[in-house]
Amino acid sequence: MNNRQLFLQHVAQTTDAPLALEIVKAAGMYMWDADGKQYLDLIAGISVCNVGHCHPAVVTAIQEQAQQYMHLLVYGEFVQSPQVSYAKLLTDHLPDHLNCVYFTNSGAEAVEGAMKLAKRYTGRPEIAAFNRSYHGSTQGALSILGDEYFRNAYRPLLPGIQHLEYNNFESLELITVNTAAVIAESVQAEGGVIVPQREWIHALRNKCTATGTLLILDEVQCGLGRNGTLWAFQQHGIEPDILILGKALGGGMPLGAFISSKEIMWSLTHAPILGHITTFGGHPVNCAAGKAAFQALLNENLVKDVNAKGALFLQHLKHPRIKAVRSLGLMMAVQLESFEVNKKTIDYCIAHGVLTDWFLFASDCMRIAPPLLITEEQIIEACKVICEALDQI
Ligand code: PMP
Repeated sequence: MNNRQLFLQHVAQTTDAPLALEIVKAAGMYMWDADGKQYLDLIAGISVCNVGHCHPAVVTAIQEQAQQYMHLLVYGEFVQSPQVSYAKLLTDHLPDHLNCVYFTNSGAEAVEGAMKLAKRYTGRPEIAAFNRSYHGSTQGALSILGDEYFRNAYRPLLPGIQHLEYNNFESLELITVNTAAVIAESVQAEGGVIVPQREWIHALRNKCTATGTLLILDEVQCGLGRNGTLWAFQQHGIEPDILILGKALGGGMPLGAFISSKEIMWSLTHAPILGHITTFGGHPVNCAAGKAAFQALLNENLVKDVNAKGALFLQHLKHPRIKAVRSLGLMMAVQLESFEVNKKTIDYCIAHGVLTDWFLFASDCMRIAPPLLITEEQIIEACKVICEALDQI
């Protein structure tokens, strides 16, 4: 059997139609398959490789830290300089009150930790989340998932969860003094890039403040520069009580985090009740990699041009078969006539060396979320292939 057949036989899949492309090398904006075919990456491993694949500074940081030490002891016991210096760097670039970082292995684990933290801090039983939201696949994250159909198969789920409508003012009435936290994506990603209206997200912030409810913003997908500012919440002019990060946070290595004030975070850690425990969360090699990626994002000024690059995509994504493009910076959903048309377009693009896919809750939309270093020429080339696909299929 070849590798592809072995993959299908022995590696568990997440869908019944995996892409099953075998990539043997990746660097910057590109990937190469076993036949040497080159792919321009328009999805960055789903918003992970914001500074590009195998950034040299990230690779060096991984090598150096791996030679120094890897796992020492469960999270939070030893002083580990990669964790300390990355936490310091992140909090230096966040609002003053977001000054305490709990590192996890993944986005979903950060979501779990944040929900537990909100319950401990407020002593309240309920969590509110939004329809069309995705926060991860663990049982708690699944319970707040914004799609009834996807949730149903796994009942019983967590009790005390309320689902609200994003960008809907009336929904905010459901937030009460029993609500520990509202969790929202700063821009809904898997819903097909739904950007919150400014007045609405301010009303959400105000309602949380008025009811003593914590506002948790999930920026696993939209954080770290993708929307044209370092943090997506800066686009809206509000601040969360708890911020959730993942994906690009590890620069290509697994790393998540939930971040709050020291005062709020303390409620999760103080004895005698067990707080949140992880063996590998904040792994020193992953923190070293993440810190190097974050520094590259700053040093190379990658966030500065995100909006201009997004605008260039919009300018070149003109085709009668494109029904709409929803976007903020380099996070875009290109809406086509149907899933079938989208799938054929994506297949054509991949066959012609441009890697893209669709969204979990918007299967008629093509995803464009490339590494932030994409050049003008690469944007024009990608749009040409997409429009050509729409002419051909
Ligand atoms: N939140 C959002 C907004 C996400 O997009 C994702 C992953 N797609 C997660 C949380 C979960 O992250 P992970 O897959 O690392 O558990």
